Amino acid sequence: MESGYFHHALEIIEDICIGCSHCMTVCPTEAIRVKQGKAKLFEDRCVDCGQCYHHCPVNAIRVAHDDFNDIFNFKYRVVVVPTVFIGQFPEEFSTNLIYNTLHELGFTHVIECGPGVELLMEAYSSPVQKARPLISSFCPAIVRLIQVKFPSLVDNVTLLKAPLDIAALLIKKKLTDSGIPEKETGIFYITPCAAQIAAIKNPQDSTSSLFNGVINMDLIYNKVYSQLHKNGKKFSQQPERLHLSKEEIEWTLTNGEAVHAKGRSLAIDEIHNVIDFLEKLENETISDVDFLELRACDQSCAGGILGTANRFLTVERLRNRGANVKSNGNGHSNDEIIQYAGFIKKHLATEPIKPQSMLKLDEDMLKAMNKMKQASEIMRSLPGVDCGICGTPGCSALAEDIVRGNGRIEQCIFIQRRKEQTGTQSLRDSFYIMEQIWGRDKLE
Ligand code: SF4
Ligand code: SF4
Ligand code: SF4
Repeated sequence: MESGYFHHALEIIEDICIGCSHCMTVCPTEAIRVKQGKAKLFEDRCVDCGQCYHHCPVNAIRVAHDDFNDIFNFKYRVVVVPTVFIGQFPEEFSTNLIYNTLHELGFTHVIECGPGVELLMEAYSSPVQKARPLISSFCPAIVRLIQVKFPSLVDNVTLLKAPLDIAALLIKKKLTDSGIPEKETGIFYITPCAAQIAAIKNPQDSTSSLFNGVINMDLIYNKVYSQLHKNGKKFSQQPERLHLSKEEIEWTLTNGEAVHAKGRSLAIDEIHNVIDFLEKLENETISDVDFLELRACDQSCAGGILGTANRFLTVERLRNRGANVKSNGNGHSNDEIIQYAGFIKKHLATEPIKPQSMLKLDEDMLKAMNKMKQASEIMRSLPGVDCGICGTPGCSALAEDIVRGNGRIEQCIFIQRRKEQTGTQSLRDSFYIMEQIWGRDKLE
């Protein structure tokens, strides 16, 4: 789904939606309204954090992804795997066994995200960007959150590629160096979340995406898991693989990045915690922080919405895996990465992030200021109880909808009662307004 700004991976399936408004209540960017008894998405506000997906009681929200069979359009089929995917499986299934199964499913090359993390560690220990605190660009939902809700902080976001892009860059280079034509290679990513789909389909950089497709982690987990059960623990081939360092394995977990940053660094996960912190940072009640690792999910990517395993078990498995790998202190996984370090370094930087403020009520500054004034006047006549009966997340959201031309003050139940009492609105009109919001079914 494309909006004026972003590609969104999340879709509301109207036929299944029961208009319960749970998604509207949890959405951290007030991107959902209820109209005609169905949830409606304001796409420019959505940051693909997946909170709505997580809380929908009837699975009316889906994460759109590419068809698995698209991999067979290519002669060489690469799958880029986040470490949390390996962490989905009970430890009795070794990493080699999971790689082997991915080969059996049709991939010719398997590479885990992680190589190149040592270059990010280097960049974090001697940052070239001046802004403080630096904010990690690892989580695309957070980058979008900053663009739409905290535009004054866009210059604080690190301009560095994420480990998944580095892994794709590396494998692409290795394959072309070995004489394989670029058009014969398809690179696919197993995603733990909707935000990474959106980021891949609509990269921040003007350069095109390194990936040819994205596959949801729950779908591929089920395929691998049933194949593992069919095969027992037998290998059809010993897979070729890069062995990740402790730092590379743990990068995706909470505090995986922050421990390597220079100065005072903090790791904050779960999007509401992040918003709370960024509001304090904007209001200058927090200062002297040098680096922020911010992740939209609770327990970072281990809590991604497309995970099938319990997030705490995933964390434990990855920590155990990291503990069994000897740390060499510099994060290098192996010599092959050192060989390509110069190439990766050359492509490590990304383009500056642009603000996409959702708070702007109009493109024209003067009109926007006038609308802001109107919205605060409307707010004064609303009760301020944020009950959500108007079909919006709260009174300020209704006030904004009104000045944007997307709502009317009579949606407020308190205003309706007041108008009925003074005889300026009939019961029948009130009934009609509620029907427009919640649908006829709920009023019968
Ligand atoms: S993905 Fe996040 S921002 Fe988008 S509608 Fe759902 S809860 Fe709101
Ligand atoms: S959570 Fe949202 S999408 Fe799901 S049924 Fe309720 S209103 Fe519909
Ligand atoms: S924390 Fe990880 S899984 Fe969650 S939205 Fe961010 S990148 Fe995706």
